Amino acid sequence: MRIGIVGLGLIGGSLGLDLRQRGHHVVGVSRQAQTIALAEELGVADQAWPDCGRLQDREVVFVCTPTEHVLPTIQILSTVLEFGTVITDVASVKGSIVPSAESLWSAFVGGHPMAGTEQQGIRAARPLLFERRPYVLTPTRRTATEALERVEFLVKDLGANLYRMDPDLHDLSVARISHLPVFVSAALLLNLASADDRQAEQLASSGFYDTTRVGGGNPQLGESMARWNRAALLNELKHYRKTLDRFEKAIERSDWATVTELLAASRDLRTRVFPAQDEYC
Ligand code: NAP
Repeated sequence: MRIGIVGLGLIGGSLGLDLRQRGHHVVGVSRQAQTIALAEELGVADQAWPDCGRLQDREVVFVCTPTEHVLPTIQILSTVLEFGTVITDVASVKGSIVPSAESLWSAFVGGHPMAGTEQQGIRAARPLLFERRPYVLTPTRRTATEALERVEFLVKDLGANLYRMDPDLHDLSVARISHLPVFVSAALLLNLASADDRQAEQLASSGFYDTTRVGGGNPQLGESMARWNRAALLNELKHYRKTLDRFEKAIERSDWATVTELLAASRDLRTRVFPAQDEYC
């Protein structure tokens, strides 16, 4: 297929690597000369350009910019693309993007690949990032079947696990399993910072590394999660505080049976959510 990718960072670059590997022709768009040069060197795109005009003949265009630039980018694309091109995005929020995107371009399909690392930029792009990971598409009543099928074909070609969800329900779910953890993990790091305990920093090992990975990532990404999924995230933060309170109260009371019960319930849930844990190592 003839593919376009706007925004050649971690996600856009990784998509480019895999789509090219599977025989698709990829044209990338980046604002920076250095990224454009690297795109061809790293194999992220067959060609890369500084403007969207070169995407005119593409069958599918992925918008992989930071969330706040998704709608302005679709606005620009709507002035250059041929009728029939399908636009899809990868932003981690959908409810505040999909209706406006559909108004700008009728052949729009909202998307969110549930995969990433704590790095950013084109040099962070890596092959097989999406393989066996969830990839959510958020079609609505306005989504044309042919547009949806075209994006679904590519998602399956990436080896990802395809899910279809309502945009608002997607946002509630990702607030729980993706956005809240970023802030909990960041709070763990800030908790260490406020203690100003260099010795503890030296003792930090695999456990602290695992629990702080997402809190040590791209700050712009976390900010857009909070800004664009604000209500759902606030709700999850309140709920999470109540769960922490249950631990605090049980420990205050030296109620070790409750502490053990809560930890056993959390272990069981983790085993259910990640039955094959080594997949994520
Ligand atoms: P990233 O590594 O920072 O890449 C974003 C790229 O977009 C940048 O490299 C930048 O490239 C380009 N860009 C920035 N502003 C732009 C603009 N105004 N117009 C055009 N291009 C612009 O970020 P990312 O992690 O790939 O995130 C991109 C999208 O993926 C976000 O919407 C995010 O919500 C979503 N997402 C991220 C993850 C994750 O874990 N990282 C997971 C799933 C979805 P140039 O400076 O070269 O133009």
